[in-house]
Amino acid sequence: MSHTVLELDLNALSHNYDYLRSKLEPDVKMLGVVKAYAYGSASVAVAKKLEEKGIDYLAVAYTAEGVALREAGIKTPILVLHPQIENFDQIIKHQLEPSIYSFRVLKAFTEIAEAQGLKAYPIHIKFNTGLNRLGFKDVNEKDILEQLHATEALKVKSLFSHLAASEDPNERTFTLQQIETFENNAKHMIAGLGYTPMLHQSNTSAIINYPQAQFDMVRSGIGLYGYGNTQEEDLKLKPVATLKTVISQIHDIAIGETVGYNRAHTAAKLGRSATLPIGHADGISRAYGKGRGYVMINGKKAPIIGNVCMDMIMVDVTKIDCEEGDEVIIFGKGASAVALSARIKSIPYELITAVSQRIERKIIE
Ligand SMILES: *Cc1c(COP(=O)(O)O)cnc(C)c1O
Repeated sequence: MSHTVLELDLNALSHNYDYLRSKLEPDVKMLGVVKAYAYGSASVAVAKKLEEKGIDYLAVAYTAEGVALREAGIKTPILVLHPQIENFDQIIKHQLEPSIYSFRVLKAFTEIAEAQGLKAYPIHIKFNTGLNRLGFKDVNEKDILEQLHATEALKVKSLFSHLAASEDPNERTFTLQQIETFENNAKHMIAGLGYTPMLHQSNTSAIINYPQAQFDMVRSGIGLYGYGNTQEEDLKLKPVATLKTVISQIHDIAIGETVGYNRAHTAAKLGRSATLPIGHADGISRAYGKGRGYVMINGKKAPIIGNVCMDMIMVDVTKIDCEEGDEVIIFGKGASAVALSARIKSIPYELITAVSQRIERKIIE
């Protein structure tokens, strides 16, 4: 055991869930996004907690992520946001619900659903309203409806779309346009379907910034994990994951000595370095090296010196009262993932999802 752990505070998750819920109209449902190991944390533990809290839906990006949740006993409906055609048998086998984002995918899913004799299998139709990532774009809804009316195998459980910049006040006009486009897609679909599926478009920042776009459900990821994309919201949320390690060794470094690979750091003054058991293979990008990133030791910032190694980093503890075995916090409670990721022009999404699977997850409740 390297003694590096990712502590997961499920009470913080519960708090964030309650906070986000408090922003919703009473009958609006909530979907918890648990893709990418629940944003780098632990998808089963998080999904179980959300299920216990009464979450209405879960979403993953890929089929295998949904299969893992089903195998762990998760019963909540699971939307697979980005399935591939070769996964459709697994989707059906595990009662997962595919996002249908193109005619190619619709045709393939219809064929397999019919071949298996399914009736009214739940699907979710995705519209591209400006993100230009996945979804039907500039489509005549009649063409989708025609396909749907030609089969008994499928039932549209929801219509949805994804916003490109809901966190950015400068993109308000664009976002409002996306909402309007989606409303139009939905209007035409509902008129032709003969029943009314759920509608959803909002991610975490849209819950905060566009209350008019809650529709029937919202999809929250980053907010559940404790980040709100603004300072104000960050204060109301609590980070679920805290990445901690320990000091393995401390070295006195003389003037002119170098530290780490490629001799990337040269000591200008007599000092002390601490070696920590975490590296780029654990999600600490090499971009944090050479003083750009830092860790917190006994409440003080210790800059990363030299290059980030695969399994280790060295930090400058010259001015920090510390010893071997002391606790080190990388991000989470006591060390902001927002501030650290900003050092390399990144965002908390990238930092928290990068924590490698070799790091132990420790659930605290
Ligand atoms: C990842 C994702 C979300 C969650 O977004 P957050 O900003 O983390 O709340 C919602 N919807 C879709 C389609 C996504 O891919």
